[in-house]
Amino acid sequence: MMTKEEYIESLRRRPKRVFVLGEAVENFVDHPVIRPSINACAMTYELSHLAEHEDLLTVTSSLTGRKINRFTHLHQSRDDLVRKVKMQRLLGQKTGCCFQRCVGMDGFNAVDTVTYEMDQELGTEYHQRFRAYLSQVQEQDLVVDGAMTDPKGNRRLKPSEQADPDLFVRIVERRPDGIVVRGAKVHQTGAINSHEILVMPTLSMREADKDYALCFAVPADASGIFYVYGRQSCDTRKLEESLLDTGNVQFGGQEAVIVFDNVFVPWERVFMAGEYRFSGSLVERFAGYHRQSYGGCKVGVGDVLIGAAQAVARYQGLEKVPHIREKIIDMVHLNETLYACGIACSAEGRPTGSGTYLIDLLLANVCKLNVTRFPYEIARLAQEIAGGLLVTMPSEKDFKHPEAGPYLNKYLKGVDTYCIDCRQKVLRLIENLTLGAGAVGYLTESMHGAGSPQTQRVMLSRLANLEDKEQLAKDIACVEKELTCPEVEG
Ligand code: SF4
Repeated sequence: MMTKEEYIESLRRRPKRVFVLGEAVENFVDHPVIRPSINACAMTYELSHLAEHEDLLTVTSSLTGRKINRFTHLHQSRDDLVRKVKMQRLLGQKTGCCFQRCVGMDGFNAVDTVTYEMDQELGTEYHQRFRAYLSQVQEQDLVVDGAMTDPKGNRRLKPSEQADPDLFVRIVERRPDGIVVRGAKVHQTGAINSHEILVMPTLSMREADKDYALCFAVPADASGIFYVYGRQSCDTRKLEESLLDTGNVQFGGQEAVIVFDNVFVPWERVFMAGEYRFSGSLVERFAGYHRQSYGGCKVGVGDVLIGAAQAVARYQGLEKVPHIREKIIDMVHLNETLYACGIACSAEGRPTGSGTYLIDLLLANVCKLNVTRFPYEIARLAQEIAGGLLVTMPSEKDFKHPEAGPYLNKYLKGVDTYCIDCRQKVLRLIENLTLGAGAVGYLTESMHGAGSPQTQRVMLSRLANLEDKEQLAKDIACVEKELTCPEVEG
């Protein structure tokens, strides 16, 4: 398994075409806007070498029998599913942001189960290909971007009906040695920090869209691929070299657009190429695994935010005030409810045909639907506790200014036994998580990542088994025969 340092060096050895704030960047690894996101992903390596986290971060590979990082693992039991969520909570606690590596892990497990079913039904050889590929990923301990979301253009139109056929990633050429693909993926978490990209379809496809029913893996530095970094609120604060004003100076999430401009993919890296009937299962399972993931990562970040609210209450002399204590307890209640759902959908998991375990999809969707709401309420409570200084506090430079600084240090102090820096730093952290760059991961990603709330409602309506519930009610109410209107009248 790679160390944190080896991971960062491995990115230097794979130069990519990256654009940030309108400029092509030569050295993306040391770019101040990008580096915090690399540090966050690197934490998945750092913790894997610490004895106290070995049981969460490492596991024996079901493919090679060797010790691997759990982020490259195929879940072999309910216990594996539960440990995955615990690992994600731990990483959220250590980074206070999105650490990005889960999308690949969730992609592996989804592709493994679906390629097995494709091979069983169609006689294809995708599953063995995929497992050979994944064995290499495990052995080399790689970060893989699980790339699902296409730009989608006019949402009312299917992929092949769009004015521009490239608005969903598609096959533009089939060759004896592989395929050529074109298109883009948007909202790509950690894409620039990845060694590989695992592309999956974004929708359930029909026959007319079979060239879009596509799953493959390519090196992230393959010819024809380039990246454009997504802006985050307050991202240029990272250029100010202020320890204080960024809120989370070490870590951050990353979202990017990936463009595939006629990229060649050899057949041994293709895991679906036209088998449109299986595209829906792949989307549903990847989304299900990632909806489970949010019951871990967002809870870990929630722990950080609750801790920040508690600390700032203390710096302001409010920690024993009853309504403040109630608000902190409400935050804990909401956060642990999210965790309970992440654990529940894991504990109710079951094996699929390939042997890889799948979460309970109904509970995973409940988990994610809660995630679309509860972090917003936790953030609202944190802002209420923090007070208006959260958004009116002058900059670090002002606090250090020879004229203004002494006045600011005099008037903006809280409880005098705590240094003013502590209060500033924690207020900036709350700002980061609820309004700034960190809010991208904690709030908007909670809303739209792994599918927007309506997609979870659709899944709930499909999986809720309302007919059974109705029968339960009729049994209790002694409704034996439902008479129709003419019978009643007769
Ligand atoms: Fe992992 Fe959470 Fe980021 Fe998804 S949003 S990649 S689950 S940390």
